[in-house]
Amino acid sequence: MRYELAPLPYTYEALEPVISKEIMKLHHDKHHAAYVAGANTALEKLEKNRAGELPDLDIKATLRDLSFHVSGHLLHELFWSIMRPVGSEYKPIPALEEAIIKSFGTFEAFQKQFSSVAKSVEGSGWAVLYATPTKELVMMSIEKHNLNHLPAFTPVLALDVWEHAYYLDYRNDRAAYVDKWWSIVNWDEVAKRISEVSVL
Ligand code: MN
Repeated sequence: MRYELAPLPYTYEALEPVISKEIMKLHHDKHHAAYVAGANTALEKLEKNRAGELPDLDIKATLRDLSFHVSGHLLHELFWSIMRPVGSEYKPIPALEEAIIKSFGTFEAFQKQFSSVAKSVEGSGWAVLYATPTKELVMMSIEKHNLNHLPAFTPVLALDVWEHAYYLDYRNDRAAYVDKWWSIVNWDEVAKRISEVSVL
């Protein structure tokens, strides 16, 4: 199998002024592309090892590499999809809001805690909302791209807080980036992803 880099679902400047065209170009064309390439390289190494080439392959390191790059690739695909151009204020559809209220008490409490998760990620990582097989929503902070994932839970909302995601626009002010990011969340896409795992 091979992974591929899909184009963004909107133009590079579509998320301005929250995220600049410059960041989007670098982030998608360089960073995301590197995760796709890294995932494919790791897969090729494993394939060669099975075929008898690369007999001394460090399997442990290669799998760690595969985990990092595949997770990086899939989280970026999710990240692009759950954002949309700045437009009129809109909130989740009622079914999604209900699901959020059921799991977190109020929408505001969810938003505040998710922001705290994003702001408190140490170094590079993500704030992620998962839908669980028991029809609940839980949040988690992922370190790098691949540490702290919850097995069998499906990521439905992800916020990239690696410095490459905001530094050109916000310098060291990650909190400002996180606070503004809410205005470009594509709630319809989040609801769609949750409904696919039957939570809604
Ligand atoms: Mn990123």
